[in-house]
Amino acid sequence: MDFEEYRKRGKEMVDYIADYLQDIRSRRVFPDVSPGYMTKLVPSSAPEHGEKWEDVFKDIERVIMPGITHWQSPHMHAYFPALNSFPSLLGDMLADAIGCLGFTWASSPACTELETIVMDWLGKMIELPTDFLHSNEQTMGGGVIQTTASDATFVCLLAARSEAIRKFNDEGWDPAEINARLVGYCSDQAHSSVEKAGLIGLVKMRLLPSDDNLSLRGDILQEAIDRDRDEGLIPFFLCATLGTTGACAFDNLKEVGPICEAEGLWMHIDAAYAGTAFVCPEYRKYMEGVDYAQSFAFNPSKWMMVHFDCTAMWVKNSGALHRTFNVEPLYLKHENSGAAIDYMHWQVPLSKRFRALKLWFVLRMFGVEGIRKHVRHGVRLAKKFEMMVRSDERFEVPAERVLGMVVFCLRDDNDNTEALLKRLNKSGKLHMVPAALKEKYVIRFTVTSQYTTDDDLERDWVVIRETATRVLADEDEVPEVKKEILQTAAPEKQRQDENTGLPDTMQQTSLSGDQTQKSHTKKTRVPFAESLLDLNQDTISF
Ligand SMILES: *Cc1c(COP(=O)(O)O)cnc(C)c1O
Repeated sequence: MDFEEYRKRGKEMVDYIADYLQDIRSRRVFPDVSPGYMTKLVPSSAPEHGEKWEDVFKDIERVIMPGITHWQSPHMHAYFPALNSFPSLLGDMLADAIGCLGFTWASSPACTELETIVMDWLGKMIELPTDFLHSNEQTMGGGVIQTTASDATFVCLLAARSEAIRKFNDEGWDPAEINARLVGYCSDQAHSSVEKAGLIGLVKMRLLPSDDNLSLRGDILQEAIDRDRDEGLIPFFLCATLGTTGACAFDNLKEVGPICEAEGLWMHIDAAYAGTAFVCPEYRKYMEGVDYAQSFAFNPSKWMMVHFDCTAMWVKNSGALHRTFNVEPLYLKHENSGAAIDYMHWQVPLSKRFRALKLWFVLRMFGVEGIRKHVRHGVRLAKKFEMMVRSDERFEVPAERVLGMVVFCLRDDNDNTEALLKRLNKSGKLHMVPAALKEKYVIRFTVTSQYTTDDDLERDWVVIRETATRVLADEDEVPEVKKEILQTAAPEKQRQDENTGLPDTMQQTSLSGDQTQKSHTKKTRVPFAESLLDLNQDTISF
């Protein structure tokens, strides 16, 4: 491929991507393939001679797409969002072309400098204490982009471990002996990556029981610390979660924070999904107590429309990271070593991609206001879905819905709920995953895409409701949804707002409390939609 052909093919690829994203509702969200499906479609060895682009391109639809779970689909409700957006895609297109590695300032100064700037922007957007900002000259705080939330937790656990070892080493203890006594904590609702961080960091990690609201409370933490100290162990780390994976619950930072401070524990906060919501002032109450944290991380790659990978992580004291990760061979020294940030000391790998570029594009094109609208749109739809579930007495919502995720199940029946979920996923019409909440098998329903409309949601609820009827009646298949509902659920090409790139429907629903909103004026309204009109408000209150 030469320059001329790249220009041509590149434009075709952008068209293919735009078509893909625009028409994504026409695809099954969850693929219908079995393990090994692809080996039947491709040769067993790489081609000896280069192929034509047309032949490669053809195989996208033939080989790849049949095995794709369409994460950008409005009918994708599994896991948490992993959204992209046009500014993000364009930013990474450029970053990939530049192809620089940003391990030291000198390895590509713009890469490091833009990262420090956008991390400060982002920290201010969610009102992190200024101790976490690069621009605060009083502290050694600052932000860095990590690959994943799991990495952020691991990096902070390692920093906390090296600080604990240093402290007791100064008192004359043997580092191996200190390490063997270290114990960290998280709640039983914490993400599995916290347990994994303990496992590979070679420290004990205790999963403490959460309360009835699935939140970690101060008394439970204090008891665990006291018990462990009695046994000669050294409590050193807490990973608190804001927005747990199972039910989007929040640990009580106001209670556990002061305990960590008094007991000398490093508190890390994992807000992978919920962090984006803190751009909205009305959700910041869940962050209260964040000032006690030593580190904080969330994933713009989840809800903020910056596509994977992008985890924003901040520390109050970057010295702890330096002491943990600093090895400086001669070939990485540069004239400005020490005077500028070398991000290689803030992470496990040496190299890093220019991820700040896509984040910068997103923040500039949407603005803080555009991101707030996006969050409120998702929360409004989740609230609407919750109302729909609650309107059908065969279902229950066993945990409080706070942001864009609803957990639900069939009343008192784990087996039927499981059967319902299996059947829905097999249908390919929508995709969800389960969670276990204290003995209860629940289905997690997350509003993901920024293009999700009220009609999409109503269509999904009809599919769920009618499939539940079949499951409860012991019938086999998933019902066909009435044609007109599917049609309204797949509006033709949506107009985009020129400034924010948000879809037209979303502009409408989030800009005003206008109750004559497009989707509700359509003839094919499902019966209960009437009662939901009062949810079309800009601000969400609990
Ligand atoms: C998604 C999630 C994770 C894992 O995120 P990765 O970036 O894939 O490591 C960790 N913690 C919480 C609370 C999450 O929601």
